[in-house]
Amino acid sequence: MTTHTSVPAYAAPSAKAPLERITVQRREPGEHDVLIEIKYSGICHSDIHTARGEWGEGGHFPIVPGHEIAGVVAAVGAGVTRHRVGDRVGVGCFVDSCRECDSCKAGLQQYCTGKLGMVGTYGRAGRDGEVTQGGYSTHIVVDENYVLRIPDSVPLDAAAPLLCAGITLYSPLAHWQAGPGKKVAIVGLGGLGHMGVKIAHAMGAEVTVLSQSLRKQEDGLRLGADHYYATSDPATFETLADSFDLIVNTVSADLDLDAYLGLLRTDGTLVQVGAPERPLPVSPFALITRRKSLAGSMIGGIPETQEMLDFCGAHGIGAEFELIRADQINEAYERVLASDVRYRFVIDAATI
Ligand code: NAP
Ligand code: ZN
Ligand code: ZN
Repeated sequence: MTTHTSVPAYAAPSAKAPLERITVQRREPGEHDVLIEIKYSGICHSDIHTARGEWGEGGHFPIVPGHEIAGVVAAVGAGVTRHRVGDRVGVGCFVDSCRECDSCKAGLQQYCTGKLGMVGTYGRAGRDGEVTQGGYSTHIVVDENYVLRIPDSVPLDAAAPLLCAGITLYSPLAHWQAGPGKKVAIVGLGGLGHMGVKIAHAMGAEVTVLSQSLRKQEDGLRLGADHYYATSDPATFETLADSFDLIVNTVSADLDLDAYLGLLRTDGTLVQVGAPERPLPVSPFALITRRKSLAGSMIGGIPETQEMLDFCGAHGIGAEFELIRADQINEAYERVLASDVRYRFVIDAATI
């Protein structure tokens, strides 16, 4: 029988209740497990959707959110070969998958079609039946195959948001070949969006930010955008008609997709990564008139996440963040909901 250790964490006790300090049980590291001392944990908008029950999973409350985890290996199981005590490591949105389906074999564990499915870092029953608890905590135990190496050139606090925000933008930008000669628009300059600007710029694309206002224009240009437009100005949609090869929509709220599809060139693609709770209507004519594509993308697999971390290491890319104490999490949630985040809140795990 597996023994457990209690560790402190911050959890949502039920949907819509504020987060509070609790203790959770972490299993003793098994043969292929890594015990990570968490140093930093990013706050993703998905944490808020989940903690507030917006995605309607019913939920395994109390739930400890957090899937942008950066820390240091504190112990390893006897069979671990990929990581050593003292290594700087990260954990993203999932901690296991079936390992046998076509997706898993292709390194696309996030699209696992096996019976186990992708085991989310929090709120999901794992292969041992225990419900996972995430990164707003001091320690976590994860199978070595789902633990990433963080390059030395990226500080751990700036690295944490790469584990979700970074890979969620890297994957579609790589898949739809953002690069020299490509015009890419990033919709929403929040946690995901600001990583998209940095990464698309580093890939060599011409980058435009489409934000609700010009409030963050200076930041956007500093982060690597070539152009910046306010979507509250109807003239933006005329000026930029037929402009982009690729648009990545990171907005966490409802958006008029037809208006954005109008900004694509012939054969262009709009990739949805934002995940608001309600359906988004699309007019067939917005797609068929110029052979446009509407696509979706979810985080990235383990090999691609490592590739993204190495890419960020080579290009000196980390997140822009505001470091907070654990007792500021609820306040930070409100600020994220008000689009008042520059550009990720990162929890200092030492304050948990
Ligand atoms: P975030 O930091 O809150 O950023 C979202 C941005 O969307 C805001 O900064 C804001 O940008 C814009 N926005 C917010 N409300 C808006 C509104 N009513 N109308 C127009 N624009 C609005 O959130 P995030 O952490 O980046 O996450 C964004 C979304 O992606 C969430 O729904 C999250 O669950 C989802 N997500 C998906 C994946 C995936 O794998 N597909 C992974 C992680 C997160 P401006 O102020 O610039 O307008
Ligand atoms: Zn996330
Ligand atoms: Zn699988």
